[in-house]
Amino acid sequence: MADATTTKSAVLILLGPPGAGKGTQARMLEQKFGLVQLSTGDLLRAAVAAGTEAGKAAQAVMESGGLVSDEIVLAILRDRMGEPDMARGAILDGFPRTTGQAGALDALLAEQGMGLGAAISLEVDDTAMIERVSGRYTCANCGEGYHDSFKKPAVAGVCDKCGSTEFKRRADDNAETVSARLKAYHAETAPLIRYYEQQGALRRVDAMGDIDRIAHDLAAIVEEIAA
Ligand code: ADP
Ligand code: ADP
Ligand code: ZN
Repeated sequence: MADATTTKSAVLILLGPPGAGKGTQARMLEQKFGLVQLSTGDLLRAAVAAGTEAGKAAQAVMESGGLVSDEIVLAILRDRMGEPDMARGAILDGFPRTTGQAGALDALLAEQGMGLGAAISLEVDDTAMIERVSGRYTCANCGEGYHDSFKKPAVAGVCDKCGSTEFKRRADDNAETVSARLKAYHAETAPLIRYYEQQGALRRVDAMGDIDRIAHDLAAIVEEIAA
């Protein structure tokens, strides 16, 4: 069993609805602290692109804005968490999303000798989320995230990070699917805020403002946990 003396590394959870800024902030924390960003959405999209059995089962659910089954998500996550770089500590972006996944995560962390540093709730207004998600696009080469109005590359059409001129948009980032995703968030994922509050692990961050101010608030939490 894991206890404080056997804990190898801590895990952070970023909780928040679609568009809250989980991916944007996880990437920034990865760069600043060397933590590993682990996005179940990215892992599922990779499985869909690779045409695996899990990807085939997940694709239609993702396009409709529903949640992929705990069974599929947990199998994918378990594989990724078994890789050696997890010893640096991980930021879970988009996982857990159901109470079933949260319970399974507790067991997985104990099994791997990892501790939960904090579950950080990115607090945002639903109305702003449609706008954020509808304007989202990413660099096709390095994955850096952008927004049509809120985060444009310094030179139009050229990725700031890698210089690529290829960008992509997600099939599920349209206004209709976003409302289904927001509903799924409130029904299935929002109860996790209380779950982590009861464990004394919850931290709340106002995620409506400037990207750099939010990054600063998150960095302060990471530094406090590491201290
Ligand atoms: P999530 O991973 O929670 O779905 P993202 O990090 O992908 O969210 O952000 C969604 C979109 O909103 C992206 O286009 C991103 O550039 C933009 N964005 C992220 N944080 C902010 C913010 N604080 N203010 C305005 N736009 C933001
Ligand atoms: P966002 O960043 O906009 O919140 P994600 O990339 O995290 O979106 O997820 C995209 C889709 O992938 C979700 O709408 C859902 O269908 C599926 N998905 C991702 N993570 C999970 C999860 N932990 N459990 C169930 N489904 C998931
Ligand atoms: Zn790039």
